[in-house]
Amino acid sequence: MNRVENEKYAAEIEDARGHISSTRRVTVTALEEILFEICPILDHGFIRVVDYMGDDTAIVQAARVSYGRGTKKVSEDQALINYLMRHHHTTPFEMAEIKLHIKLPIFVARQWIRHRTASVNEYSARYSVLDREFYIPERSSLAVQSRSNRQGRSDRLIYDEATRVLDILKSDSSRNYDNYLLMLNEDALGNKIDPSRDGLARELARMNLTLNAYTQWYWKTNLHNLFNFLRLRVDAHAQFEIRAYADEIVKIVDRWVPACSSAFKEYRLGAKTLSATVVAVLQAKIRGEDTTALASTLGKRERLEISELFPGLFS
Ligand SMILES: Cc1cc2nc3c(=O)[nH]c(=O)nc-3n(C[C@H](O)[C@H](O)[C@H](O)COP(=O)(O)OP(=O)(O)OC[C@H]3O[C@@H](n4cnc5c(N)ncnc54)[C@H](O)[C@@H]3O)c2cc1C
Repeated sequence: MNRVENEKYAAEIEDARGHISSTRRVTVTALEEILFEICPILDHGFIRVVDYMGDDTAIVQAARVSYGRGTKKVSEDQALINYLMRHHHTTPFEMAEIKLHIKLPIFVARQWIRHRTASVNEYSARYSVLDREFYIPERSSLAVQSRSNRQGRSDRLIYDEATRVLDILKSDSSRNYDNYLLMLNEDALGNKIDPSRDGLARELARMNLTLNAYTQWYWKTNLHNLFNFLRLRVDAHAQFEIRAYADEIVKIVDRWVPACSSAFKEYRLGAKTLSATVVAVLQAKIRGEDTTALASTLGKRERLEISELFPGLFS
């Protein structure tokens, strides 16, 4: 964000944070503390919580279909939430919702928008001029193509190569943005550059921007779908840039619904799904039986994954 924008938003955020209203609805002190505040991600991105509905007790309340707050002892509530998570009883988790304001590079937004079970409203580049902000990775994030994973990166680029890449990214982003303004015939503050010339419509000029330009949206989803998003995007297979956002959302969820967050980490993030054959191999192994024939029916990739999880299982 440039300095003018920064000051403008800081004032708006301060103003929003200044309004305190009383309510009978459940609120979460730890989340109220950061409500509306900007949490920076990457070089120009951010996440901020704009609104939320419910807390851990909303999940318990829905599961018990209770009249009051539906909570019992904290340990009993945690046990119920763990049970729901473990057995994929998903609808109680749909009773809590969160609305986030996110600023992110366009190429990250393209991955993010694949999560269809959310409500999205994006900043309109047909209506407004995008800021002169591009994601330029940290030198340490520049890596070579992975050989083992076609979708991933591997070792860091050597210094000179990284310098060349950074120079290209910076100059291409800048040049395309300059030409964007030239086509619009507007400067960054929206003033006409050349009064004798018509500018191109914003909806067309934007096509010249690079994918590392930043966009923004409001993104509202329920806790069940948020957990699905996090399970996929916190994972090491997800791209570093979207993972940076997902990691920050996990911290927000920790504040908002600590009991659900703990169940999610235990039964989703840290858990592994085993196929029927692998379960049979494990059971046979515990009984002391020969598992060679059973194990040979597993595919090469699954065998490798399971060996990493349980070294020595197939030896
Ligand atoms: C590491 C990684 C690599 C990826 N690589 C690629 C890639 O190479 N190419 C690519 O195109 N995508 C890729 N994706 C995107 C991925 O395939 C999913 O589209 C994305 O993660 C959204 O997941 P989702 O459908 O579970 O989420 P959501 O869209 O939020 O859906 C949540 C759940 O709702 C249900 N649902 C939603 N809509 C429908 C529907 N229309 N019909 C039936 N059920 C529905 C499904 O059960 C779904 O799991 C990748 C994702 C990850 C995490």
